[in-house]
Amino acid sequence: MIKKLIRSILGPKKKANDHTKPVVLSPKQHGIDPQLVSPNAIRVTSTLQEAGFKAFIVGGAVRDLLLGVKPKDFDVATNATPEQVKRLFRRAFLIGKRFQIVHVMFGQELIEVTTFRGASSTGAPKDEHGRVLRDNTFGEQHEDAVRRDFTINAMYYDPSSQSVLDYHGGIADIRAKTLRIIGVPEARYREDPVRMLRIVRFAAKLNFTIEPETRAPIPVMATLINNVPTARVFDEMLKLLMSGHALACLQQLRKEGLHHGLLPLLDVVLEQPMGEKFVTLALANTDQRVLQGKPVSPGFLFASLLWHQVLEKWTAYQATGEFPIPALHLAADDVLNAQTDKLALQRKIASDMRDIWAMQPRFERRVGKAPYKLLEHIRLRAGYDFLLLRCASGELNSELGEWWTAFMEADGSGRELLLAQKPKLANEGPPPKKRARRRSPRSTSGPGTSGNSNDTQDGA
Ligand code: ATP
Ligand code: MG
Repeated sequence: MIKKLIRSILGPKKKANDHTKPVVLSPKQHGIDPQLVSPNAIRVTSTLQEAGFKAFIVGGAVRDLLLGVKPKDFDVATNATPEQVKRLFRRAFLIGKRFQIVHVMFGQELIEVTTFRGASSTGAPKDEHGRVLRDNTFGEQHEDAVRRDFTINAMYYDPSSQSVLDYHGGIADIRAKTLRIIGVPEARYREDPVRMLRIVRFAAKLNFTIEPETRAPIPVMATLINNVPTARVFDEMLKLLMSGHALACLQQLRKEGLHHGLLPLLDVVLEQPMGEKFVTLALANTDQRVLQGKPVSPGFLFASLLWHQVLEKWTAYQATGEFPIPALHLAADDVLNAQTDKLALQRKIASDMRDIWAMQPRFERRVGKAPYKLLEHIRLRAGYDFLLLRCASGELNSELGEWWTAFMEADGSGRELLLAQKPKLANEGPPPKKRARRRSPRSTSGPGTSGNSNDTQDGA
């Protein structure tokens, strides 16, 4: 009798493993603040609903709303086909050939609309390692839910009724701050190894714990990431590094044994005491910028991550008698070539990195017209920020960074005064007169010449 009463209040009991019926939560139960929902996302769901379709905000946006965080973008899931969606909006574009989605634009804001994905991937074409290559069947909402990665990413929010549909216990996991993969972890990582990187990013960003069964296979399966197209790994790495929690993400990557082979040289970099300090500072700096809403350039980020590799090779080339500037270019070539296969560094990013590196010895020439010429460099700001990082990490004496700060801020006469000043560490003589082959590797503008560190130089 009492059981019957409870059931009539709570609705029909959902079987523990029945993922075809959602638990429906009311605003009182989920507590989402409607103010945090993008009006454009609501416009999309209500337009679709008025046309007779189902439509929900889905994925990361619902997760963030439940956490009381303003989502950075909104995805919508619907049972309308991409063509049906496109017809309903003025600025809507079909994207993707194999699995079409629709981008609906409102000014700068993009709402991504996806049709519910169908049943299991068992029949989908895969590569020899089990990675799903194509996945293009439409289906029911509960099938769409089971195809998503983590329980906290598989909830649907209907702005009109303000209800949340939860198929996989996402609400409970959000409350327990737990990351849990949907389905059998090994199978899900095999289908798409990028999920291992995603989980690390979410764990670091949200400060959630990875549930033990979800976590266990990761170190064993990590190598599968090598079979994923490099462009996709690169996109995911970029998301990770630009998440505002890059430092925490990299620490988490190491903890899960995932850092090997992603940035092929990163593990080496992190193992060098000088490199570690530099990378840590660079990432902390990036995180701070992201959290303050300032732009972050991928070129600067990768230039920092790989700087100590460049530094090591730069010194080595000079030790063979190469001049500092050509030696630096050779070092940059080596490092960039080693990275391009794995990271699919886009040309623009690689050229930004090279610019930032190539500028570094020029900061050490504080005589004549050289500093004025450098002021005109299009990437002066990035090069200067990079110089400050080198000083802060102890690679260079901080006097050099301070001098440049003063020089950039000074007016004409102030600059002349600064130029007349003798650097405290007299390491910059006049520019070499003529090329004299076989100079000492510790030449004027070599790495760290004004610095107080020598652990990357010695023995090179
Ligand atoms: P954020 O945008 O904050 O980084 P997100 O969860 O929204 O996080 P997106 O990449 O925007 O991440 O993906 C949107 C949703 O699509 C996810 O929440 C998840 O439901 C689903 N999804 C994305 N990538 C995968 C994947 N590799 N496997 C399964 N589902 C995925
Ligand atoms: Mg998203």
